[in-house]
Amino acid sequence: MTLSLNTISRIFKTLIPVFVLFLLFPSEALSDNKLNKIRKSYDSNIEKLRIVFDTNKKINFKFDKISKKNELNINLRNIRTSEKFIKPKFDRKYTISSKLIKNKNNIKFNFVSSKNFTYKYFILDPKDSYNHRLVVDIYFDKKVSKLSKIKNKLKNLSKHKFVIAIDAGHGGRDPGAVGKRGTLEKDIVLSISKKLYSLLKKEKNIKPILIRNKDSYISLRQRINIARRNKADLFISIHADAAKNKKARGSSVYVLSQHGASSEAAKWLANKENSSDLLGGASIDDKDNDIAEVLLDMSQSVTIETSLKASRIMLSKLKKVSKLHSNTTGQAGFVVLKSPDIPSLLIETAFLSNPKEEKKLRTKKFQNKIARAIRDGIIEIIKKGII
Ligand SMILES: [Zn+2]
Repeated sequence: MTLSLNTISRIFKTLIPVFVLFLLFPSEALSDNKLNKIRKSYDSNIEKLRIVFDTNKKINFKFDKISKKNELNINLRNIRTSEKFIKPKFDRKYTISSKLIKNKNNIKFNFVSSKNFTYKYFILDPKDSYNHRLVVDIYFDKKVSKLSKIKNKLKNLSKHKFVIAIDAGHGGRDPGAVGKRGTLEKDIVLSISKKLYSLLKKEKNIKPILIRNKDSYISLRQRINIARRNKADLFISIHADAAKNKKARGSSVYVLSQHGASSEAAKWLANKENSSDLLGGASIDDKDNDIAEVLLDMSQSVTIETSLKASRIMLSKLKKVSKLHSNTTGQAGFVVLKSPDIPSLLIETAFLSNPKEEKKLRTKKFQNKIARAIRDGIIEIIKKGII
């Protein structure tokens, strides 16, 4: 097919105004993303400042490399501030200056603190009433992974006690798994937890706390809150497993996963353990927005990394007293492990669904053995400077 001269000229006539428009308003054409808001929240418990950039579209950004440890520059590209945008005010406690420098289609965010800091960032896609977000977590002071070993030594020197939160799974109207002989997970794990508590109480540098010390219902979120209030250094959730396969047996250790479950079985288990909140009547998604963001928080990677290291030690100790269901750490989205700042482990001591293990779980002997193995794991985790 050939185009007549006439047709070509007609196409050009149509295209030229579009092209001219593009030349006249390049910024309009390119910077159609809008910065709607910069939100901030400060967590004094861990000296973390969270800055959230809220934008219409997926954000194009780049962090500038800066040698100073108290300054941060983020280049946001092809973006303008929206009409409603109000520049946030940062607390003078930790801020020397915060500037938004606009340059054509770009905005540079410059933050200078009075304190040294490290930072992590991640992006979130729109969800519910939220737009696209770039989340930057600024960690002031000592809660930095690289410093954890030094921190640990300092803690030892200052006779700091490591706070270990012992979380007996389930409780109250939530029985957890139920064995063939009617053994309830909530009773077994409370008994093991109390034994662990007494053992840890004897250690000079450890202060154990029991998340529940009786047969009561506590939501998963509340469990985390109790641990945080007590400034726990490590969170250990104790459970007894159940599986459709009656032959399944042995102990397992789980940590929170960042990207989905490590196996189908782990996913299934996480659903089972998480459903505890539904049984108790409290839903996990009726929380306020800040907590919703904590739930989505992928900046937990440092904590997960620490939890993984701790889990390997825990597995090596459990191996001495019980067959391992899996030699490696499982990872899944357990709500109870979602403290952004406390390394957390979930231990499935044995299978209540396996009649032989149910019998074993009921004995004081096995309960003591497991409690001692967990204590040994905790002591080594502290000794190795992991927490
Ligand atoms: Zn359980």
